[in-house]
Amino acid sequence: MFKPVCRQTVRQLRAASRCQNVGVTKRYMHAPLAFDWKDPLGASNLYTEDELAIAETAESYCQERMLPRVLEAFRNEEYDRKILEEMGELGLLGATIKGYDCAGVSSVASGLITRAVERVDSGYRSGMSVQSSLAMGGIEEFGTEEQKERFLPGMAKGKILGCFGLTEPNHGSDPGSMESVAKPHPTKKGYYSLSGSKTWITNSPIADVLLVWAKLQQTGKIRGFLVEREKCPPGTLETPKLGNKNGLRASITGMIQMDDIPVPHENMFPDIEGLRGPFSCLNSARYGIAWGVIGALEDAIARTREYALERKQFKGNPIAKYQLVQKKLADATTDAAYGILAAYQVGRLKDEGKAAPEMISMIKRQNCDRALVNTRTLQEVFGGNAVSDEYHIGRHVSNLFVTQTYEGQSDIHALILGRAITGIQAFC
Ligand SMILES: Cc1cc2nc3c(=O)[nH]c(=O)nc-3n(C[C@H](O)[C@H](O)[C@H](O)COP(=O)(O)OP(=O)(O)OC[C@H]3O[C@@H](n4cnc5c(N)ncnc54)[C@H](O)[C@@H]3O)c2cc1C
Repeated sequence: MFKPVCRQTVRQLRAASRCQNVGVTKRYMHAPLAFDWKDPLGASNLYTEDELAIAETAESYCQERMLPRVLEAFRNEEYDRKILEEMGELGLLGATIKGYDCAGVSSVASGLITRAVERVDSGYRSGMSVQSSLAMGGIEEFGTEEQKERFLPGMAKGKILGCFGLTEPNHGSDPGSMESVAKPHPTKKGYYSLSGSKTWITNSPIADVLLVWAKLQQTGKIRGFLVEREKCPPGTLETPKLGNKNGLRASITGMIQMDDIPVPHENMFPDIEGLRGPFSCLNSARYGIAWGVIGALEDAIARTREYALERKQFKGNPIAKYQLVQKKLADATTDAAYGILAAYQVGRLKDEGKAAPEMISMIKRQNCDRALVNTRTLQEVFGGNAVSDEYHIGRHVSNLFVTQTYEGQSDIHALILGRAITGIQAFC
């Protein structure tokens, strides 16, 4: 059976430290690490004790509570919102935020949480990322003190669910051309009237607070608005579910249709204008995705290895004996190890305030691309059984296509990097 990587590693590290009565770092000054296919470049040695303990909590929850539910959720396209409440109880939501009942952990620790969740399913990770990085992160970074006090504690517990509405039916990679608009409300003083349409919005059908980006009519500038579902008059807000997806089926996705929603002035972010607002939220979420997709790839590697060792073809040999199968595992394991180290490096820089957005574009793009390519190749090792969802590999492949597409499609991140490298922008 599959064993959680981090939990095992934490136990090994702690046991070894106790035996030798020295710190983890000191112990490794003299003893070379044995190669561990689950952590090939010894990344676990870089994490603090706190980060390892947080990873252990997240891994235990995800493997024991989430994994048993994922097949049914994916088959029936049903997202259980209790999952966010359970995560909230463990302090996993908005985990890097300081205060407001949030855990205030490091960016590396939050990456480890994300990796643990996506080891189970990218859809579950998407639901969490939207709540934590996009909705809570946006409020924390750009909200007023009153907005933070009103929303963040409930969101940290998973009692108030958030979503993030940027993409529109006619404007995905180019959100600057959005058509959603906020104008002074014709009858309600102190209110804006919000109209427009957003699509492919994770959590929108079940969100209590919708962070919507729209152009303020008076200035033409993009602003962030907190739309509270229960305060919307009938007929002004609809959030239909987009069903029959072939990826991220364990998450819930929908539209946001706004028809003159009255939104009080105090629900607009006060200072942030233009695309800097949504892009800053997206940066945090993209950083998390870079960790998360490696979790999915690591799960694919573990399952493929186990299958290849058990499955026998030609003279009773396990297919793991064959060079072509071994190369697939070697390629995937190498990309996973490199991906984690790159995400780790950007995480440490992020906490020092030194991470450039292009760094995040690079790790989001590279880790998503490599996770998708490798998982798709590993799928071949399962032969016909790959078609059965009981083997989980096909679910990861279809999920990882979406992760490569949303929050900046891979080629768009190539253009961001190309602009940074050449000084010439190639978007249009
Ligand atoms: C399951 C799911 C959940 C999502 N959740 C959210 C969410 O919570 N909130 C939210 O706001 N959005 C969300 N999205 C939307 C997602 O971010 C967009 O789908 C993504 O940004 C791409 O936009 P698009 O689909 O309109 O593709 P398009 O912009 O139409 O792009 C189509 C293709 O054209 C390419 N392309 C576009 N412009 C250029 C160019 N200048 N040069 C070269 N190639 C180009 C792209 O790279 C891509 O390959 C979600 C999407 C999905 C599928």
